[in-house]
Amino acid sequence: MAEPYKPYVQQWLQNGLKSRRNDFFQFINTQLLVEQAQRNVRYKIEQQNRGMGNCINFGRSNSSKMQQNQVPDLALNLIPRQQSIVSPSSIQCTINNQNNTTIGTPSSSGVSSASSSTTSATVLKPITDNNNNNNNRFQYVALFDYDARTNDDLTIRKSDLLEITYRKNTAWWKAKNENGQEGWIPSNYVAKRDSLESEPWYFKSIRRIDAEKQLMSDVNEHGSFLIRDSETKKMDFSLSIRDNDSVKHYRIRQNEDGRFYIARRTTFITLPELVTHYSKTSDGLCVNLRRPCVHIVKPEPDGLSHNLVDKWEISRRDIKLIRRLGHGQFGDVWEGVWSDNVSVAVKTLKPGSMNPTDFLTEASIMKKLRHANLIQLYAVCTIEEPIYIVTELMKNGSLLDYLQSSRGRQLKMSALIYMATQIARGMAYLEQQNYIHRDLAARNVLVGENNTVKIADFGLARIIKEYAGGMYEAKEGTKFPIKWTAPEAALYNRFTIKSDVWSYGILLTELITFGRTPYPGMTNAEVLRQVDQGYRLPQPPNCPLSLYTIMRECWHAQPENRPSFSTLQYRLENEYTGENPEFSN
Ligand code: AMP
Repeated sequence: MAEPYKPYVQQWLQNGLKSRRNDFFQFINTQLLVEQAQRNVRYKIEQQNRGMGNCINFGRSNSSKMQQNQVPDLALNLIPRQQSIVSPSSIQCTINNQNNTTIGTPSSSGVSSASSSTTSATVLKPITDNNNNNNNRFQYVALFDYDARTNDDLTIRKSDLLEITYRKNTAWWKAKNENGQEGWIPSNYVAKRDSLESEPWYFKSIRRIDAEKQLMSDVNEHGSFLIRDSETKKMDFSLSIRDNDSVKHYRIRQNEDGRFYIARRTTFITLPELVTHYSKTSDGLCVNLRRPCVHIVKPEPDGLSHNLVDKWEISRRDIKLIRRLGHGQFGDVWEGVWSDNVSVAVKTLKPGSMNPTDFLTEASIMKKLRHANLIQLYAVCTIEEPIYIVTELMKNGSLLDYLQSSRGRQLKMSALIYMATQIARGMAYLEQQNYIHRDLAARNVLVGENNTVKIADFGLARIIKEYAGGMYEAKEGTKFPIKWTAPEAALYNRFTIKSDVWSYGILLTELITFGRTPYPGMTNAEVLRQVDQGYRLPQPPNCPLSLYTIMRECWHAQPENRPSFSTLQYRLENEYTGENPEFSN
């Protein structure tokens, strides 16, 4: 039983010698070390089984299937993960074992289904356990800078060591820094020390398309790299490296002893070791690993502050309106500041222009929907009129305005497709939540920095009622934006997620034509009649055929024959690659 531990024990001993001399000498006996680790793991399994919190993480192995007395493979990194080796067909790039040269075999079907994996910290470096002889209280490390928004918050800087003193909810934790200052921080800004997530090059479940996007940004350079969870193989990882003007991807696998490798001839106990090796020498990769990829987007904290996660009525005094951004159906939209330091967008509701209850229904729907490609609702002020609805601010305004602007017109095809992908992701989430948007169009999508786009305006979204057979009957007399609306919705008020798919196809034409109104020169009445008779928008100039094919599928006369948003997401993510000449300009 002790045999397979050997390399791990050695590793732990080395690390112990390097970083935890004092703790280490208590574990000088190897056998004792192994037994101690096993006990820790069992103790934690028991705690988990009793619902006492997730003190340990089993990586991506299926921990629920584990027997109580079975030591999980990655826990404390003492036992290798046992798994079969992936077939080479799905590798994008691999190192030729014999002659050390790089070979590239681009794969167009290597992405898994739309649901993103929710990988949590995989402990890859040995850690001493909280419950045993560990005097170090600072078990967390800051991944990003966070500036205190309120007096109760703690300002943190990347790499700060922190002690977590109170976990109010999953989103906000109370932390103490090494100077003894204490306050609230967003939990997604920190990671456990020595965990894989604390490594600057580990980007978790980021998708290949996003890895490419981040690596290709100006702040990164030749040799910038990241490691992410493989999209296709649950237990594998992928290494993405910027190679001048392109990004190369390598599969990181594990051999039967659980050792990581890119080329079978050189294996490593941990991913950090692998990174160290390929930093020193390219050893068959396109370039040696030089700098961890710089994050171009920080994650959004969940809500404005720790006490606005569940509560969302705020005082109007906390909001200052700065400048008017635009005018919507029910009132003005302003750029504002919350608590004197957080930029927000404020939608004001013209008194008497709409039933405040309906407005609040919109707000309560938005509040529940949380996704990186949907506008986040922060708070409302409903005590006095005009009602305020406070949301995430998107610096570049509506997608329609952006596309028509001189900046938007310079967007490359790859950037347009990237935007389309993000919209499909946001819609796939709505689809999964059984919501429908009913007004999907470039005017209702907002643009942030680095071509990030988020879907706004869920005012018309409603839960699809089971009893209505998956259809939502629109109120009589409601006006529709005909050119974006599926014929069955326009003619018979049958709104489903599939009518949203139709609108998405129209939105794709807006993207590709830089905001041209669809069906130019045709009136709404003409469009309605012609589309009902089978007419469809022709292929826009410069539109890749593969994208037009997708549009046509979105406009299938039978709603059930249109693709789902998760399929659309999948297809766009796969077609957006540096290798596809159609999308590479
Ligand atoms: P709406 O009422 O949602 O149609 O918004 C009207 C206009 O206000 C939009 O076209 C945008 O230019 C602007 N706007 C709305 N919401 C935001 C936001 N969250 N961030 C930035 N600009 C926004």
